[in-house]
Amino acid sequence: MFLGRKTVLYFCPHQDDELLTMGVNICSDVRKGKNVHVILCTNGSKSNVRNVLKNGKRCLLHEGTHTHELSVDEFIHARDQEFIGSCTALGVEAANIHIPEKRDIDGFLSVKNAEEIIKHYYSIYGHNAVVCTISPNNGPSQHQDHKALGKAADHLLRQGIIEEVRFFIEPYLFGQIQDNPRLIPIAPTITKATGDMKIAMEEAIRSYSIWNPAEQRYAIGYHSVTSDFDNYLKALHCYSFVSWNPNKMTLFQRIIQQHKKWLKLQKQSQLFYSLSSCEQPDLGALGLIHIPAQATSSYEDFCTRHNVPLTDKNLQRLTDGSSFWALVSSDGELLSSGWLAYKQHFYIGETDYGFDMWESKTAVLFDFNTKAEHRGNGYYGLLLKSIVNNAEGPDRYIIYTSPDNTSSAKGILKAGFQFDGMLSAADGSIKSYLRRAGFTSIVRKYQLYGLRVAP
Ligand SMILES: [Zn+2]
Ligand SMILES: [Zn+2]
Repeated sequence: MFLGRKTVLYFCPHQDDELLTMGVNICSDVRKGKNVHVILCTNGSKSNVRNVLKNGKRCLLHEGTHTHELSVDEFIHARDQEFIGSCTALGVEAANIHIPEKRDIDGFLSVKNAEEIIKHYYSIYGHNAVVCTISPNNGPSQHQDHKALGKAADHLLRQGIIEEVRFFIEPYLFGQIQDNPRLIPIAPTITKATGDMKIAMEEAIRSYSIWNPAEQRYAIGYHSVTSDFDNYLKALHCYSFVSWNPNKMTLFQRIIQQHKKWLKLQKQSQLFYSLSSCEQPDLGALGLIHIPAQATSSYEDFCTRHNVPLTDKNLQRLTDGSSFWALVSSDGELLSSGWLAYKQHFYIGETDYGFDMWESKTAVLFDFNTKAEHRGNGYYGLLLKSIVNNAEGPDRYIIYTSPDNTSSAKGILKAGFQFDGMLSAADGSIKSYLRRAGFTSIVRKYQLYGLRVAP
């Protein structure tokens, strides 16, 4: 094995995709000292801007009028200059900016030709190269050339011809598909421009907005997708995820993949209930235990004393801002326990939504457990009421249960919660319910050391 400079090959469908979809990563890879190549796979000739430039009108993007009748070749040349300027601004060396002779006509990139182009550069720049391109699964409005390139990379990966692909999601499509684990199979990495990378990025964007007809510069990129450039400039981040050949993955790669996997969203509908306040029930000789967020050592003590397994998951819950509550008998036996999440993002369970609650005055009660031999004694209801009465901060408490869990539903109603409805993830009703309840965002990803997907 050699640990030489890592080579990264960015294959982009059109002039501007290297910037709008992959720019932050390109810039970041260059700064990390990687050997970065950018390869343009079509000629960009079909853009409607060629017509705009000769329509005799004026526009707000530049001085002068649209009186420029460009031949297809002139138009392609002008676009290529914008592309080269952008790559250069991102830090890519001139010799590493490639415009292959065999590139396709804009709109007609075939999977086959895309495969040829990828294989060609892969064979030149070595088998340790990471192929970067756009994911082919970014929804129905994705450009067909983008899909073709993504499919080509995917084919080559599955055939074992290339080892590793980083797939990108166009930032302007990300919002439409971010919740779909079928389209984005693992939690995407969000790369943000930091520090002086921003200056390079702005310089790259400028390459698509230069208006200087004497120098064959017509701000074609900017005319074409003005709002995409503006939005990109505001956010300056890229979305991507890595895929490896499933048959050749190393143990390390498998662990990463597993760790980032979206966990299945509960398809089943849930019964949701809420309550704003209630009176403290008479606990008699029972004791109420409250372990606040962050108090991990108290929680460890509790687990030791009550013979409860100490799990990383529960420690992480405390760290994420959830608090632990329990009812114990007069002789210290644990009867019933549960969790309250508020003030920070948290994740309900491994197969559930995570709710981001920084701004919310609503809290969620979750993962309640009453010891089997003590069920039916009303401890669950007593604990729920005690939490609502003693927790500080939230104005409203939400709890939910699966429809077949009738005993939980009974306990919840008995504690005074009102039934808010049967809500389903499939039709988005859970989401809209939680938004109404004031949650800032709802993310679908949970792992122990939780990656948050919502920016
Ligand atoms: Zn494109
Ligand atoms: Zn114009």
